[in-house]
Amino acid sequence: MAHTFDVIIIGGGIMGCSSAFQLAQRGLKVGLIEQRSIGEGPTGKSSAIIRQHYSNELTARMALYSLRVFQDFAERVGDECSFTSSGFVVVVAAKDRAGLEANMALQRRLGIQTELLSPQTLSELMPGVEIADLVAAAYEPESGYADPYLTVNAYARAARRLGARLFLNTEVTGLRFESGRVVGVNTPDEKFDAPLVLNCAGAWGARVAKMADVDVPINPCRVQVAFFRRPPGHAAPHPVVADFINATYFRSETGGLTLVGLVDPSEANAIVNPDSFNEHVDFEFVTDVGERLIRRYPAMLQSASTGGYASLYCITPDWHPIIDEVPAGSGFFVCAGFSGHGFKLGPAVGVMVADMLTGVAAPEFDTHLFRFSRYAENDQVRGQYEYSIVG
Ligand SMILES: Cc1cc2nc3c(=O)[nH]c(=O)nc-3n(C[C@H](O)[C@H](O)[C@H](O)COP(=O)(O)OP(=O)(O)OC[C@H]3O[C@@H](n4cnc5c(N)ncnc54)[C@H](O)[C@@H]3O)c2cc1C
Repeated sequence: MAHTFDVIIIGGGIMGCSSAFQLAQRGLKVGLIEQRSIGEGPTGKSSAIIRQHYSNELTARMALYSLRVFQDFAERVGDECSFTSSGFVVVVAAKDRAGLEANMALQRRLGIQTELLSPQTLSELMPGVEIADLVAAAYEPESGYADPYLTVNAYARAARRLGARLFLNTEVTGLRFESGRVVGVNTPDEKFDAPLVLNCAGAWGARVAKMADVDVPINPCRVQVAFFRRPPGHAAPHPVVADFINATYFRSETGGLTLVGLVDPSEANAIVNPDSFNEHVDFEFVTDVGERLIRRYPAMLQSASTGGYASLYCITPDWHPIIDEVPAGSGFFVCAGFSGHGFKLGPAVGVMVADMLTGVAAPEFDTHLFRFSRYAENDQVRGQYEYSIVG
């Protein structure tokens, strides 16, 4: 016998679970199907940095909305997300100063707290930071990071409390259509019926879209992070730093560690099979990001490397997601391709998706910017910087 739902969500990452929560809150009968377990995909490996520095009004608004949810998570979702308001700093060289200030002006118009810091003020905020090569820094006192695994599981539990059913260790292997409209999904053992199907399959998003005969430009790309134990004298947590000059980001991690990753558009070239790729960190990567970290934070010269891991970004040509019904009128929706910066937007994406699926006349967030047709129209989303991941 088939299971029957109002909506089937494919994927138990932050997007699938946040969407399940929002849709269940609106009274829809939701079934969420995840091939592994909740948060076992890239969401659980996310650096989970929550900042609001974006080049587009829509993404900045979504980031601000989501920040308010992370700050009040127990009340608004239930359980904890371990949000840490460490502050967030972007440091740039002269060529990026105009872009930085344009983004900050946009942010301020939206009510986002952000301050332009002189290099001297930054060194007071973060003792030990190298400032000789800086022209300016932007500082968001409210931003920080969360625990991605706690967050996504909290959303899943909240959705379940509202009546959503979660099917774990269950892979969607096909979609069923009748007269151009989706009617359900298949798994190896069962059939699920629903008039709405939402593809939140992240790095597998293109594969799932292909089941609807749709080719979306979403590539699974291998990315790495490394950890370093902060030395005595600098053991205290520090703000999150996005260092465009050394093309890195770093933040404090529990256990006196600092987590480091790259801000590097060429990560889009590391396309892999999402089912089978090297999930271990490369020695060369640890050495490289360690050197970059020391250039910005020389105190880390005395730090010890404690390893790292590799996971997946799902990257689109403009590093922004596709959130759209494809084809129009089919009942099959894509919400994937967050290109390495989606975690922080997760709470807002759930609202956006719920508005889209329930046909809200005046949605909180318009999906037009993320329409699939923008690639064919040569109207991709553009940012202020060459560092595409910043958005
Ligand atoms: C190392 C790293 C660092 C990051 N750092 C940040 C950061 O600091 N800040 C930030 O905002 N974002 C960051 N991101 C990006 C962010 O984590 C992602 O954008 C976000 O987690 C994507 O969530 P998702 O739900 O779209 O996809 P995923 O987490 O990939 O979830 C998709 C799920 O779908 C499931 N699935 C796929 N195919 C099927 C199928 N056929 N049937 C059933 N289930 C299926 C998968 O198993 C998976 O669990 C980072 C990502 C990585 C990897």
